[in-house]
Order: sequence, then structure tokens, then C-alpha cells
Amino acid sequence: MSTTVMPPETRSSGDYIEAVMNTVKLKNPAEPEFLQAVQEVLDSLRLVLARHPEYRTAKIVERILEPERVIMFRVPWFDDQGNVQVNRGFRIEMNSAIGPYKGGLRFHPSVNLGILKFLAFEQVFKNSLTTLPMGGGKGGSDFDPKGKSDNEVMRFCQSFMTELCRHLGPDTDVPAGDIGVGGREIGYLFGQYKRIRNEFTGVLTGKGLNWGGSLIRPEATGYGCVYFAAEMLKSRQDSLEGKLCLVSGSGNVSQYTIEKLLALGAKPLTASDSNGVIYDPDGIDREKLAWIMELKNVRRGRMREYADKFKKAVFMPTDVKLDHNPLWNVKADCAFPSATQNEITATDATNLIKNGIQLVAEGANMPCTLEATKLFLQAKILYGPGKAANAGGVATSGLEMAQNSARLSWTREEVDDRLHKIMVAIHGTCFETAEKYGTPGNLVNGANIGGFLKVANSMLDQGLV
Ligand code: NDP
Repeated sequence: MSTTVMPPETRSSGDYIEAVMNTVKLKNPAEPEFLQAVQEVLDSLRLVLARHPEYRTAKIVERILEPERVIMFRVPWFDDQGNVQVNRGFRIEMNSAIGPYKGGLRFHPSVNLGILKFLAFEQVFKNSLTTLPMGGGKGGSDFDPKGKSDNEVMRFCQSFMTELCRHLGPDTDVPAGDIGVGGREIGYLFGQYKRIRNEFTGVLTGKGLNWGGSLIRPEATGYGCVYFAAEMLKSRQDSLEGKLCLVSGSGNVSQYTIEKLLALGAKPLTASDSNGVIYDPDGIDREKLAWIMELKNVRRGRMREYADKFKKAVFMPTDVKLDHNPLWNVKADCAFPSATQNEITATDATNLIKNGIQLVAEGANMPCTLEATKLFLQAKILYGPGKAANAGGVATSGLEMAQNSARLSWTREEVDDRLHKIMVAIHGTCFETAEKYGTPGNLVNGANIGGFLKVANSMLDQGLV
């Protein structure tokens, strides 16, 4: 692999992208998810760089790939037996060209530097698409909240925030939740921040309603994803009414995706967790959804219990020997992957296409492998990439920040209306940008280019920093 033959800026746009990609691979060899996210964005940026030599001269692409700051730290805490436990904490402050760093915290045993860098990188473009002034960041820990007592979770959060608090601030870096970080964790993190810094500010989003949270924030990612899907269908004179839908996961995003699908007349058929999939041929109605919310948010139980409670439902346990996920082999019209990265492989995509899927809207971040994405684009189905389709969560976090700064709170209807308008605008940007750059209907290009331009132009304005 040669990277030093010619300086990248003197090459054609295609060669230049190859050279940048090779350098990124050499510099970040142990970060496959980051490389995957970069590859997808760079593929889209070929179209832009051919038209804008100024970005190459200023090395905007090389700079956007390098985090402004990476913070890694030790998180020691006592478990309930009095044993010392040690986890690793991270915050990636990726890009602040258009606003303070903003992005969630993930607590999951799989968390490592590469996963958080991919998420922080995606976040830069996503936040830009929301039209709100937010830079990109992401953080978290390899701590697993599953099976821990509330006291253990609290002690962990307090230790985590004891270090992280010196890097945060309402105008510097404002984290939110992600996998494994919900209302409970945000509460403990906020309490510790306030205690150490002696200030009550909007430094985290997803806060409780009594202490600075915004109505609709818990619902926002799922609702936003369904609003985005409705816009995609509208572009083909269609709607969600009567559509059979596959949803994966059973956490925050999945629950509110199901809720909004029901509100718009669709029929959700599936949900899952890391132990397996439930398929309910009668559909998950409001009553069953309320049961799932209680199971997951209060009892913190497993999805397999659903099939004991609702007899017509089938539970399919996770089988690592299987070459596909049975959830994506159920016949349906629309798919909403809402669990985690790379949950739809090329085999799953082939199954979905074979079964006549018309739309995939990504509630999760990068749930499709590069090969799966290519298959969807080739099949010309409606395909909404996560950085556009799931941007409703961070957009509403932006609205929470605005309410905190103004020291007031908006009604549920007002926040929901703004969220809806933002999702319509994001779809419009992606759709129009895809057309403008010669790839009509390709919302991957639309999202990547639409998100990139605002950040790149701001970086040009702000000089070499
Ligand atoms: P939650 O922790 O609330 O739920 C995650 C769900 O996905 C759970 O059902 C979990 O099952 C399942 N899951 C997680 N990891 C795996 C895995 N490795 N294999 C199988 N199942 C898994 O997280 P969220 O709903 O908040 O996040 C889901 C996705 O949406 C993530 O990709 C996140 O980055 C993205 N997202 C979230 C936003 C938000 O506002 N919350 C905003 C934008 C994107 P189990 O309980 O068994 O682990």
C-alpha cells in the first residue's frame, strides 16, 4: 500500500479519495467501524471534491477525519459486594466548527475507541443536517449497566462524571444518552456534574422534566425516524397507512418508533434484544407496546417473556451459527433497524429485498454494512441513512438546549411540531442535494454531502485551527 508517491491534493478527485482512505487505514488499523463510516462518507464526497478544489487545498477532509480531542480515562468504582471495579471512559470531541460538541454517551461492553470514533464522525454530519448550531462528539464506557443494581449504576456514573465534568460545559460539550444511557443514568450524571461544578446548567440533554428536560426528547429519535420515513414514502406518493413494519431492538428508539408507526396507521410486527427476536403476526398494538415499555424500562427484563405473555407471538433466540438474522426474513413493507451497528448484513439485505421491502429507515447508527447499503441502493428502494433518519433525537436535544438557555419550557405540541418540521427539512436537504450532485434518490449521498458542506465552509471561514 503506497501513500507517499504524490501529495493527495495534486491528484484527481478519485485518486485523492483513495490516498486519503489509505492514510486513514494506516493511522487507525484497529478501528474497523470508524473506517467503515469514513469509507461511506468519502465515497459520497468524490462528487463534491470534483467541484470544490478549495476543500482539497485547505485539507478539509484530512482535518474532518481527525478528532479535535480524544479523552480517555480510568473509571474506578465499588460494586455492591465492596469489590473494586475498573472501567474505561471516553469522550471524542470530533468537530466544533458549527457549535459546541454534542452527541450521546454509550454504556455497553462492546464500547471501544473505534466504535466511539465512528459514532462521533457520523454525529458531525448528522448535527449539521439538523440546521441547529451543534458540533459533533460522542463518548461512553465499556461499563455494562445490565444486571447492575441502581446503586452500582449510580456509583459508576458518579465516578465517570468526576473526570468527564472538567471537559464539559453548556458552551463546550453537551452529552446525551445512547445505548445503555437513559433517564436514570442522565440523572446520576447530572447530579454529580452539578455537585462538583456548583452550577445548574444545560450540560446534559435527556434530563428529567422537573430539572430542565424537554418534553418529547425521549420520544424524539423514534418519532423523528418515522416522520422521515413518511417523507420518503411521500416522495413516491405513498404513506405508512397499512404498511407491515419490522423494528429491531426494544430500547428507547424502538419503543417510540413502534408508537409513532401505530399512530400513523402502520402495523409493527417485530422487536428484539441481544438474546433474540419476537415476531407477532397480529402486530404489536398499543397495549402490547405498553407491556414492552414496562418490561424494558421498569422491570429491565428480556424480550423472550413477550412470547409467554402473548401466545401467538414467536420467540427466535439469537443463534450465532446462523448466517442471517431471522427478523429481517419476515415479509414486510418497511424496516426500521433500531438496535445497533452492522445488524443488517448483505445476507439480511438480500432477504429483505427478496421479500419485497420498499423502505429502510435507520433508527440506529450505521445498522447496515457497506455491502447491505449498496444492495439497497442498487435495488432503488427508499433508503434513509441513520445520520438523516435518526437525527430527530439530537435535534430535540438542540431544542432542549435552546429552552435551557432561555430558561423556559415549550409545550409537547410545540416541540413535536418543531421536530416534525426539522425532519421534513432534513429529508428535503438530502433529497435535493442528491439531485443536485447527479444521484437523484440516493439519500446516502444527499445526507453526506448536505451535512459536509456546512461544516466544511465553516472550517474554511475559521482558518487553520
Ligand atoms: P437502548 O439501550 O435504549 O436500546 C438498545 C436496544 O438494542 C436494546 O434492545 C438492546 O438489547 C439492543 N442491542 C444493543 N446492542 C446490541 C447488540 N450488540 N446486539 C443485539 N442487540 C443489541 O439504546 P437506544 O435505543 O438509545 O439506541 C439504539 C440505536 O439508536 C443505537 O445505534 C444508537 O446509537 C442509536 N441512536 C439513539 C439515539 C437516542 O436518542 N437514544 C439517537 C440516535 C441514534 P439488549 O438490551 O439485549 O442489549
